[in-house]
Amino acid sequence: MSEIKRDAFVDGRWVAGDKRFAVTDPFDDGVVAEVTDGDEAMMDTAVASAAKAFPIWARRPAPERGKLLGQLGARMLADERRLAELCTRENGKPLKESLAEVRYAASFLTWFGGEAGRVYGETIPASNPGQRLLVTREPIGPAAVITPWNFPYAMLTRKLGAALAAGCTVVAKPAEATPLGTLAVAELAQEVGVPAGVFNVVPTTRAREVGGHLLAAKAIRKISFTGSTEVGMLIARNAAADLKRVSLELGGNAPFVVLSDADLDAAVAGSLVAKFRNSGQTCVAANRFILEAPIAEAFTAKLRAAVAELVTGRGSDPGTDVGPVIDDAAAKKIAGLVADAVKRGARVVHGTPPDGTSRLIAPIILDGVTPEMAVWTTEIFGPVIALRTASDEASAIAQANDTDFGLVAYLYTRDGARQLRVAEALEAGMVGINEGLVSTAQAPFGGIKHSGLGREGSRHGIDDYTNLKYIALRIG
Ligand code: ADP
Repeated sequence: MSEIKRDAFVDGRWVAGDKRFAVTDPFDDGVVAEVTDGDEAMMDTAVASAAKAFPIWARRPAPERGKLLGQLGARMLADERRLAELCTRENGKPLKESLAEVRYAASFLTWFGGEAGRVYGETIPASNPGQRLLVTREPIGPAAVITPWNFPYAMLTRKLGAALAAGCTVVAKPAEATPLGTLAVAELAQEVGVPAGVFNVVPTTRAREVGGHLLAAKAIRKISFTGSTEVGMLIARNAAADLKRVSLELGGNAPFVVLSDADLDAAVAGSLVAKFRNSGQTCVAANRFILEAPIAEAFTAKLRAAVAELVTGRGSDPGTDVGPVIDDAAAKKIAGLVADAVKRGARVVHGTPPDGTSRLIAPIILDGVTPEMAVWTTEIFGPVIALRTASDEASAIAQANDTDFGLVAYLYTRDGARQLRVAEALEAGMVGINEGLVSTAQAPFGGIKHSGLGREGSRHGIDDYTNLKYIALRIG
């Protein structure tokens, strides 16, 4: 594998544009690469190539498509160190998290590589003896894939794997902050023999215009987006004009419920995973800690002790647990949320409120948070823990569900009946019971309410890239 790829990847070729933009390291602003800034014309070429490649790719035997996906996953793993270092440079996350992300990303390719050969149809018993009723699943068509900066590899492969397994072709527009990982995957795809036009990547700084141009293209029949709820809703509204199929993986505001009989050490360990991965910048980040009154004090004490051990610093330093947040706007937003909470009466029980001038933000724990505080109602996307007490189980459930979002909920309790009772009552697409990390390629990832539409990963992930075709056959 060569130097960092920095041009668009269109129709199997690396295409340099007239304009470039700098991708910088969030830790020190060092320029990682000057990347081609794609425009509408480049996007048109990418869409045309995906449209041209589609019928050929769709007709290719599914096991062959699956084999290529498996090879791409293996190729990522073989290069995991280099890919992880690249991720830490463009995203800022600790190297150990980047490595975990590369493996997680590769697991989607392996998983969907297997699933490609299992896109089964059905036969349906007919009422009429002269008929046979068949149902097949066909790829929808060329897919537009728009990804965020927080998991540059995994958010891509979770879509790419499903799309290519189903027989769709892809035009990807990565986030402006982190296009390099996507381009690196494109290079590996080229190496393992993914045909020209099947996977195209166009980076751009003009997401609304050039990204919007991609989404509006007539040939695009499927849109898969991961990002903010605001942009997701806009995309869904625009897609309605052409009735394109849309999958949206949007924001969260995850409750982390610790009930009175919980194993507090396990709950603390789960909190660290659910809160601090990627400095809190994950859509599944625990956002609202809801503690049943009898254990609130003991849990908070243990949490403070554990959080005090976390090291904040440069992602490439081996001891770092919490890297910088992605950009200055993120740092300012987080500082504003903490300041608002403190002004409204929250107590800082660990850490120092950030002033918004540094992207390096050490963990903060706020106690006595109320629903009037923006830190409770907004997706924090930073290393801030907001704690609130609930008098009992019913009140904890009510607090947990008091949000427009519904991506994931975390629940800590040792009581088996409570586990199921509360999990069923929680309004979320996913529930982790005594588990702070629910994401895995085998399971359906996705939300309800304002957290999105559709599911990614698992055997259900392919559904979002297929249409059912019903065939009625008269045999006599
Ligand atoms: P985040 O807060 O994670 O940056 P965004 O929703 O702004 O979330 O961005 C997620 C992805 O959507 C990025 O690739 C971004 O460039 C892209 N994006 C943002 N606005 C638009 C838009 N109007 N049309 C298409 N893509 C967009």
